[in-house]
Amino acid sequence: MLAVGLAYGMFAVTAQAAPQQDVYDAVEEQQQPLLDTLATLVNIDSGTGFIAGLSEVEALLTERLEALGAEVEAHPAETYGGNTLVGRLQGSGDRNIMLMIHYDTVFGEGAAEERPFRIEDGRAYGPGVGDAKGGVAVILHSLEVLQTLGFDDYGQLTVVLNPDEEKGSLGSRDLIQQLSADQDAVLVFEPTFSEDAADAVTVVTKGINYAFLEVSGRASHAGGAPEEGRNAVMELSHQLLQLGDLGDPDKETTLNWTIVEGGTKRNIIPEQARAEGDMRYFDSSEYERVLNEANDIIANQLIEDTEVEFRLDKGRPPLPPNPETQGLAEQAQQIYQELDRELQAVEIGGGTDAAYAYHADSATPAVLESLGLVGGRFHSDEEFVLVDSVVPRLYLTTRMIMELSDADPES
Ligand SMILES: [Zn+2]
Repeated sequence: MLAVGLAYGMFAVTAQAAPQQDVYDAVEEQQQPLLDTLATLVNIDSGTGFIAGLSEVEALLTERLEALGAEVEAHPAETYGGNTLVGRLQGSGDRNIMLMIHYDTVFGEGAAEERPFRIEDGRAYGPGVGDAKGGVAVILHSLEVLQTLGFDDYGQLTVVLNPDEEKGSLGSRDLIQQLSADQDAVLVFEPTFSEDAADAVTVVTKGINYAFLEVSGRASHAGGAPEEGRNAVMELSHQLLQLGDLGDPDKETTLNWTIVEGGTKRNIIPEQARAEGDMRYFDSSEYERVLNEANDIIANQLIEDTEVEFRLDKGRPPLPPNPETQGLAEQAQQIYQELDRELQAVEIGGGTDAAYAYHADSATPAVLESLGLVGGRFHSDEEFVLVDSVVPRLYLTTRMIMELSDADPES
C-alpha cells in the first residue's frame, strides 16, 4: 500500500488524527457522483415484490458493477420475486470481503413520482433514500474510490444486493448464509440513525419471531340466540391478557401483541378472532421457552367449546454480541478518528440481514452492520439522509476495505 506511506508522510501530526489524504481526496471527488447515483436509484420505485421497478434497478446495478470490473450473477429470490445480484471483483491479495445491502424498499408504486429525490437544508429526501439505497450508493462509490486509487490488495470482493429484505429476505437468506461462509469479513450497509447527531455502527441486532393466536368459536344471532354462540373475541381477549408477560426482562426478550382482528357484524356472536405479536430476542433458547409457556397458558380457557391455537414462526436470527464484530467496530472507530469524528457502536432492536451472514459456530466472517448513510425517519414519508454523512461514510468503507485487505497490518 504505497498510498498509506505517502499520506502519513504528508502529515506531521499523529497518524490517527489525520486522514489519508489521497483517500480523502478521492472520496471527496465521489460525493456528487454518489448523490447523482442516489437520485437515480431513489427515483425508481422498487418496493418488495414490485418486479417492474426491481428489474429496472437490477439492470442499472448490473451495469454499474460490470463497469467496475465485476463479474455479476443474478439469483432469483423466491416468494416475492426479483433477483439477488452477486458481483465479484478479483484482487491480488488473499482476504475475502463481502459488501451487502438490499435494494428493495417498503414504498409502493408511485411513491417516487410523488416524492422524487430532493435535497433541502443539507438533507436528501425520497423513498428508500437511507433504507437502503444510500447503502447501495456507498458500496458502488467506495469501489470507484478504490479503482481511482488503483487499490486491489483484497483477494475477492463480493457485492451482494438483494431484493426482498423488507419482507424478511426469504428468497435471499440461504444465498447470504452460503456466500458469507467463505468470507473473512462482511460489511452490511443499512443506514444509521442521527438522533443525537452521533454517528454509529451496529454491533448487535435482536432476532425476530412472529407470534400468532387463533381462536375459533361458534356464530349465532346476538339478539335471537346469543347462548348458542361461542364468542371468539371474548376468548381471544382473555387469552391476550394471560399471554401479556411472555417476555423476559433479564434476557431482553419481548413479545408484544400488535394486531387484533375478530367479528364480522354487530349482531353476530363472532366465530373467529385472531391476534399477531412481535417477539424480539438475543438468546435462541427463548423460542422454545416462549412456545412452551404459551401452550401451557392457553389451556386455561374462558369459554368452553372454543378452540385456541398459538403459533410462533421464526424470523431473522439475532446478531449476538461477539468479539469479531467488536473488533471490526473498533477498527471503524479508529478510522473515524482519522477524520476527527466519533463513532458509536450500538445495539438495535430491529433484525437485519447481518444476522444471516453471522455464523455462530465459526469465528469467520466478522460481521459489521450499519455502514450506510446517516439519516432518520426510515420507512416514513420524511425519510432522509444527511448530505454531510456522504464523505465520512465513503471514507470509512474505503479505509475498512483497505485495512481488511491487509493480512498483516503491521507490515
Ligand atoms: Zn433496510
